[in-house]
Amino acid sequence: MAIFQPRKPGQPTNLQPWHALSADDVLASRNATRHGLSDQEARKRLGQFGPNQLPQRKARSPLVRFLVQFNNLLIYVLLSAAILTAALAHWADTVVILAVAVVNAVIGFVQEGKAEKALQAIKQMLSPHATVLRDAQRKSVPAEDLVPGDLVLLEPGDKVPADIRLTQVRGVRIQEAALTGESVPVDKTVDPVPASTPLADRTSMAYAGSLVAAGQGAGIVVETGPSMEVGRISSMLTEVEKLATPLLHQINIFARWLTVAILLLACVVFVFGLVLRGFEPADMFMVVVGLAVAAIPEGLPAILTVTLAIGVQRMAARNAITRRLPAVDTLGSVSIICSDKTGTLTRNEMMVGSVATADHSFLVSGTGYEPRGKFSVEGRPITPGHNPLLLEATRAAALCNDSALSNKAGHWTVEGDPMEGALLTAAVKAGLDPTVEAGLVPRIDVIPFDAAHRFMATLHERPSGERVIYLKGAPEQVIDMCARQRNGENDQPIDRKYWNARTEEMAAQGQRVLAVATKVTTSQELRFSDVETDLTILGLFGLIDPPREEAIAAVSECQSAGIRIKMITGDHGGTAQAIARQLGLINKTDVLTGRDIDALSDEILAERAPDVDIFARTSPEHKLRLVQAFQTNGHVIAMTGDGVNDAPALKQANVGIAMGRNGTEAAKEAAEMVLTDDNFASIDAAVREGRTVYDNLKKAIVFLLPVNGGEAFAIIAAILMGSAMPITPLQILWVNMVSSVGLAMALAFEPAEADIMKRPPRPADEPMLSAFLLWRIAFVSALFVLGIYGIFSWTLANGSTLEEARTYAVNTLVVMEVFYLFSVRYLRAPSLTLIGIRGTRAVLIAVAVVVVLQLVFTYAPFMEAFFETRPVDFIHAVEIIGVGVVLFAILEIEKWIRIRIIRHRRSSDGRTVSPGGMKTPIRERGQ
Ligand code: ATP
Repeated sequence: MAIFQPRKPGQPTNLQPWHALSADDVLASRNATRHGLSDQEARKRLGQFGPNQLPQRKARSPLVRFLVQFNNLLIYVLLSAAILTAALAHWADTVVILAVAVVNAVIGFVQEGKAEKALQAIKQMLSPHATVLRDAQRKSVPAEDLVPGDLVLLEPGDKVPADIRLTQVRGVRIQEAALTGESVPVDKTVDPVPASTPLADRTSMAYAGSLVAAGQGAGIVVETGPSMEVGRISSMLTEVEKLATPLLHQINIFARWLTVAILLLACVVFVFGLVLRGFEPADMFMVVVGLAVAAIPEGLPAILTVTLAIGVQRMAARNAITRRLPAVDTLGSVSIICSDKTGTLTRNEMMVGSVATADHSFLVSGTGYEPRGKFSVEGRPITPGHNPLLLEATRAAALCNDSALSNKAGHWTVEGDPMEGALLTAAVKAGLDPTVEAGLVPRIDVIPFDAAHRFMATLHERPSGERVIYLKGAPEQVIDMCARQRNGENDQPIDRKYWNARTEEMAAQGQRVLAVATKVTTSQELRFSDVETDLTILGLFGLIDPPREEAIAAVSECQSAGIRIKMITGDHGGTAQAIARQLGLINKTDVLTGRDIDALSDEILAERAPDVDIFARTSPEHKLRLVQAFQTNGHVIAMTGDGVNDAPALKQANVGIAMGRNGTEAAKEAAEMVLTDDNFASIDAAVREGRTVYDNLKKAIVFLLPVNGGEAFAIIAAILMGSAMPITPLQILWVNMVSSVGLAMALAFEPAEADIMKRPPRPADEPMLSAFLLWRIAFVSALFVLGIYGIFSWTLANGSTLEEARTYAVNTLVVMEVFYLFSVRYLRAPSLTLIGIRGTRAVLIAVAVVVVLQLVFTYAPFMEAFFETRPVDFIHAVEIIGVGVVLFAILEIEKWIRIRIIRHRRSSDGRTVSPGGMKTPIRERGQ
């Protein structure tokens, strides 16, 4: 039957009822075998069928994106101002205001485009992989390289990478909510179902976009790319995420209200000027236009978006990929990080360091996965071949094993679970060849490892036809399942005390302990009932998995940042404790085990959990209960996870963090952030960046608002005094759109302040515009008014023309901005330091650009015509710069006094307790 018809990319699906065909018919029609395609054939088909990608949602056209930029209140205000000035025949103003509106839209358009592209690129770093059989070998390939006919292996937590007709299932359940809306996972079989069966009931299929919730299976790819079922559901296509977080949203709403308030204020000023000061309506209109454009922070939205995008990019550079932008806000207030142990805090590069049997304790030498090393007993080297029990134990560990060792250019690596790889290395060191052993006693069946039951078992057939089970798993579990122990070559009743003591000994050294056991059976297949009792324990393996060096530093940094670290591990309590000690993360020595947690009510758990740092032998359900317990205490939780069952806990945590390398797709989908290197240090780096983004947003606001405030109040001061406007609306627009935006943009690139990880976490409900910030905005606004209006009236009084006085005022404003920029870079530390004055590249570039533009503004004849400026002579230039220096000095003195007051308060109040329950120095609230 040759139904196999290559489809050209983009050609519509041939709508085969794959679910109704038998597995063999599907294999035939897709020209495939149960051993997978060859690499060459797969490449050929990739050329024929095209990549396994869904068509991207059509991006908004650039014109639409550009026009959307005009759809905001600020632009409406500007456009109204343009109409008003046109009506009054102030054509120059009209042209400039319109130009500003267009420039603003262009900036928004360009920045938004760039930021969106950067985020898109970051997301692409998370492209999923699929496990296939190619050339009869298990391989991980990018999901987009899958072709029809590929044999895909499915495991719990995998995202189904294409439409697959299942050919083999073992307890496979698939969560198809994304396609069918049904949240309960569906049991799958290999039997065909009638052609008319609706999608939700096609039990012989696994559709792209769904998640494997349990079991193991294999199947043939029948459709890829746009022909997949998911391709027909338009809502599934990747939506473009809005570049915003709740915090930005909050600030933008604030900016909108501010605009409304400013418009109202402008009306009041208009009436005041008209009625009480007797100004001409036409003049007053111009004043009001000036006031409106002065007070509205035009550049703010663009700067906030850029700051956020830069933060996200920086996090990506530190191996933390943000999947959901609001996480950036939350990171800054994380007070507890719940971390897995293996692979996150430890290196996950394992090596068997010791083996215990009923009669001996062996030490094993060597480095990494290189299968070279010696076994010794009490310091004396031994020949493993002379010890049948040691050989049988290592054989069991090598056969009950799904990994493979490989030597790539002299470097030994593991395909699969690192712990299993280490067991293979130990077996080779003992003189066994795992491939030969597997050939001698072929595997017939398997119960895969699952964190819920903590063991793995395999069924093998000996050449004699006898069947034997090998099992490995957590010692407590395995010891319970055993009735006997092997001693020499004989079995005898198990001495549980002996094995428990050996386990504790190994664990106390920080080794991960694994027990291996065996049983002869007559079973044809492996069921749980076959392994629950009556096994014979062969020995224990102690695996060395040292802490990551960088995790030790990160743990200490998090602690000084007032963040508590909780190790939540599936491993043994003793091992966890030893590793925690090496990492320096223990405050209390208590360990709560999964069993202890089960015995506690939610209320008691909420009371006890904050005081405990190590949770051992836990399963994913415990993680969920723990997150809830911490949250009850008002904590903000970041939680790591990798398995399919971790998804609920990751969703519940304030910031769910999935492992990028060893994590399942299910965990990644549930998480806010993904670590590309699975390393705890990257969480610490992300928190640092999260705090920095928050600081920089705050700095941008604290920089921009006083400038606008200063301009607006200088105009109001002029009205109150009945004098001419110190700056014209056009000049204000120039300052707002050129100098303010240029300088504030530099703040988006600010590095973290030195004490960023020495402050306690920001309370989650802390308002961004705290009392301190409001004070600072008011204080600096007042200084700006003084500077602008002071220079204006003083030079006017001393014989300068109105145009000259205004040019001095505008230049004073810009000089003050430049000096203020240097001051605002450090909100809580002096700016008058070598590093402070040197600035950053972004600051220097911004200042240089602004200075050049300001020189053009002041001295270029065409600018003179447009902005009514006049050249500034040397003496006035010195005076103007002097104003900037005075502003800087006043702000430094204010900062100095503030720091003194805080120190004084700190020494009289003592220390305060952070939300994490740790003693941390008090800091200035709301900064
Ligand atoms: P963490 O949660 O910190 O990553 P973990 O990797 O030790 O710790 P699990 O993967 O849940 O947590 O493993 C729990 C226990 O199950 C391990 O300590 C080990 O004893 C046992 N175990 C782990 N992997 C296997 C495996 N492949 N086969 C048999 N037993 C295993």
